[in-house]
Amino acid sequence: MTGPAIETLETDILILGAGGAGLCAALHVADRAPALSLTVVVKGLLGRAGCTRMVQGGYNAVLAEPDSIEAHVLDTLKGGGWINDQELVWTLVNEAPGRVLELESRYGCFFDRHADGRIHQKPFAGQTHDRTIHKGDLTGIEIMSRLSEQVGARPSIAALEEHRAVALLQDGTGRVGGALLLDVRTGRFVAVRSRATLSAMGGGPTMYRVFACSADKSSDGLALALAAGAPLRDMEMIQFHPTGLIVPNSLMSGALLEEGLRGAGGHLLNGQRERFMRRYDAARMERSTRDLVARAAFLEVQAGRGTPNGGVWIDVSHLGTATVERSFRGMVKRCRDFGRDLAREPVEVGPTAHFTMGGIVIDVACRTPVEGLFAAGEDAGGVHGANRLGGNGVADSTVFGGLAGDSMVEWVGGRALPAVSRAAVEAAVARVLAPLSAPGGEDLYALQAGLRDLMWDRVGLIRSEAGLTAALAEIDEIAARAQRVAVAGGPAFNLAWQDRLNLDSQLVTARLIALSALARAESRGSHFRDDFPEPNGDLVAVHVAAENGAAPRVWTEPVRLTRYRPDAVTSAITVEVGD
Ligand SMILES: Cc1cc2nc3c(=O)[nH]c(=O)nc-3n(C[C@H](O)[C@H](O)[C@H](O)COP(=O)(O)OP(=O)(O)OC[C@H]3O[C@@H](n4cnc5c(N)ncnc54)[C@H](O)[C@@H]3O)c2cc1C
Repeated sequence: MTGPAIETLETDILILGAGGAGLCAALHVADRAPALSLTVVVKGLLGRAGCTRMVQGGYNAVLAEPDSIEAHVLDTLKGGGWINDQELVWTLVNEAPGRVLELESRYGCFFDRHADGRIHQKPFAGQTHDRTIHKGDLTGIEIMSRLSEQVGARPSIAALEEHRAVALLQDGTGRVGGALLLDVRTGRFVAVRSRATLSAMGGGPTMYRVFACSADKSSDGLALALAAGAPLRDMEMIQFHPTGLIVPNSLMSGALLEEGLRGAGGHLLNGQRERFMRRYDAARMERSTRDLVARAAFLEVQAGRGTPNGGVWIDVSHLGTATVERSFRGMVKRCRDFGRDLAREPVEVGPTAHFTMGGIVIDVACRTPVEGLFAAGEDAGGVHGANRLGGNGVADSTVFGGLAGDSMVEWVGGRALPAVSRAAVEAAVARVLAPLSAPGGEDLYALQAGLRDLMWDRVGLIRSEAGLTAALAEIDEIAARAQRVAVAGGPAFNLAWQDRLNLDSQLVTARLIALSALARAESRGSHFRDDFPEPNGDLVAVHVAAENGAAPRVWTEPVRLTRYRPDAVTSAITVEVGD
């Protein structure tokens, strides 16, 4: 058989994804073991792709009293509805202060300071202490710019930009031994063999009609891990932010207007100009928790009380033009780019899918149950439980990214490159190429829109057994129809082909979200079932896994309360999740 040319590459360590997790992992490997060869793969451009760059709010770490490790752990557990993996939370909170120090003193980040030189920490989204470290409201740009510079300065790191992982490669025992990559620019394939492989592709709920995360993410890491037999957990836990911009027919729809607007006294109005939060949380009104506000806005639209474009209004004009322009400069500018004047008039917003709390099961050393495969950042599950606390996302990716780098260095010691069969590589290549010669008769973008609408309407902010069951059947139907999509053009820089491959991953993950949501017969954190509107007493994690291409198997496991029990916690902590 003469198939397409497949290049080969051997590297000691392969890092898939280059957000905070991927880049911290790479720097830890390079600094601990410069003799190891290391390849970082990124679907977009290094330093530019993914969500870490989008971080505005900041980074949670305990730096000074009266804050404490215990308070940060408890905030995170309470925010997560107590279904977090407590060992992961403990690790996150204990490692975060050191990682902040490392980001500044080793990698050159510089965060905002008090006049006396101490790092400034702001109150953030209901946390018990001022904990959130930031660089103005461009924290992610500071972190990603400095990390990318450092990666560029280390000769042992090779970066493959605009390459996407399309399959994990395994040896006969199931050990992951690399990945098949597709060079988006040329369409050529590269089969990479590696001794350890890190999944740091950033999850990403882009299978919803409206989303805030970076559009290059299509939950590839989750789909590839499932195909390799790795278990995932809590996939039903998708965080929705209440105030995503509504800009009809623009990819910017869903981009965030941050919590600060509500915190400062902004009003949310429905299409009839009522402050609708009165109906849902009269005590806290717009300052209610994020999951509740997002659900309330969704219900208003469902009840026919939405704005012309299916959202609600956020109005801060009563705070005074000068105040709004001074305090919310970035958001005023963002709105102005789309012809809206945030300082003087209400702006149309609505819930937006923001973050994947669930993901690949890992231990505190970022090892997955599949030998040779590690995971960190938004690809991994268990840290955030049922809801992520504002500022814990970038702490998660940088802390666990660094730890994954350290663990992989230890793991590769004395281990040889695994043998990966040529036939398995060729089968993966054939699967990826299939859309270029499919029979046709289906419209890719109609299917993509269909999936996004379905996820929004039935697997989104409000769920039920009937809706989820119907959604699963429809997801299967969309997946079958997707097989018939014929992508025009050749393999080089064919964006429709990339979108078709994205749809594959999004369909796999959509199915996992719906299956897990069906298995969780209760409401907790970001997961709301109108047929089970209350939390039940059981603290369980919903697991899902598939072996050898079989249908995913779903099961629940009691959460291990290894450090704290909810009934033993007496401190009155109110936690709201943030950006
Ligand atoms: C708008 C917005 C604001 C946020 N603000 C905050 C905040 O203030 N504080 C906070 O703590 N958290 C915040 N978060 C969450 C935070 O961004 C994430 O928790 C964190 O950045 C995830 O890091 P990561 O490294 O796992 O993934 P990302 O940074 O998203 O990186 C994923 C990487 O994987 C690559 N990739 C994807 N698929 C493939 C593939 N198939 N092959 C190769 N590479 C691939 C991508 O190109 C990218 O390089 C925010 C998120 C959003 C969307």
